[in-house]
Amino acid sequence: MKRSEQVLLKRVNEMVARLCANREKINLMEVCGTHTMAISSSGIRKAVDQRLRLVSGPGCPVCVTTDDEVDEATFLAGVDNITILTFGDMMRVTGSSGSLLEAKARGADVRVVYSPLDGLKMAAAEPEREFVFLGVGFETTAPTVAAAVIAAKRQGIKNFSVLPMFKLIPPALDYIASSKQINIDGFILPGHVSTIIGSKPYSFLVRRYHLPCCITGFEATDILGGIYILLNQIANKPEVAIQYQRSVRPEGNLHAQRLMRRVFRRVDAGWRGIGLIKKSGLKFREGFQRFDARKRFDEKFNGFKTRHRKNEQRKNCRCGEVMLGVLIPTDCPLFARVCTPARPFGPCMVSSEGACAAYYKYER
Ligand code: SF4
Repeated sequence: MKRSEQVLLKRVNEMVARLCANREKINLMEVCGTHTMAISSSGIRKAVDQRLRLVSGPGCPVCVTTDDEVDEATFLAGVDNITILTFGDMMRVTGSSGSLLEAKARGADVRVVYSPLDGLKMAAAEPEREFVFLGVGFETTAPTVAAAVIAAKRQGIKNFSVLPMFKLIPPALDYIASSKQINIDGFILPGHVSTIIGSKPYSFLVRRYHLPCCITGFEATDILGGIYILLNQIANKPEVAIQYQRSVRPEGNLHAQRLMRRVFRRVDAGWRGIGLIKKSGLKFREGFQRFDARKRFDEKFNGFKTRHRKNEQRKNCRCGEVMLGVLIPTDCPLFARVCTPARPFGPCMVSSEGACAAYYKYER
């Protein structure tokens, strides 16, 4: 650890000792998967006083994508003349009918892209094929997808659509904060999502649940600084603080928010291992419906729906509890035995932002 990190760590541990004079533990949730990786790789989780528990949250977009959504994607991949466009992490996530990687091995046209705009270029270059982009992600990804859809409309590109699987972070935090089984004393709020939405959408966590909140950057000093701010709030008064001031403003990115609102509206959405959360997803608004792959391929999906049996979380997979901070990855009986990065059983081990992948790599 660098000198500046050691200084912060000392202050954090002194504060934990003070607070734990009249309580047993302090549970802080790092909501974002990138934070989970950074906390594990920098050794912060092990270095802090162990009365401070840093637990992972539902902020890995691949991890919260449901089996049903993965099945929809693998189903469409098997349809003639359709190309599936996806970010790389989704390739190995398994639904009840296997993964996109397996679909590709069977001959499906599945391509990894780095942005929906790459997909738009492919669609323009091959007008005889249908291109379906998997809309997986949070408020960070949705504005870019909205921009690509607006561009497709403007350019008259007719063979590009999106399978929307977006999830929104504040409703998931509402779910966690209101749960009687999940005992969280404060949130290390996501840096990237907050760059878009700002700090205001989290204010209900203070108003309704009196929970300390801090939007935090991704360096070790940011994270230790954010933890120190949260501990101070526990000692004094909760609020929504912004440690990551170099990137986040209270009002967020208004242009990105406008793009998102223009193209999408909020709907209830299913989260893997958690279930339905009200108003936590996005669907296309009127005027953009032709870009919705579920509507565009409605007839084909009818066949899929009658054949498809609803699939619950697979037996023994504890991803849901890991994403709610109820368990840590090493508590899962499959961790590092049946489930490894080479042979992942659940998405938390697949994704580069997954809690189980972070623990496997850095904390065994
Ligand atoms: S170890 Fe594997 S099965 Fe268990 S919670 Fe993690 S990803 Fe899911």
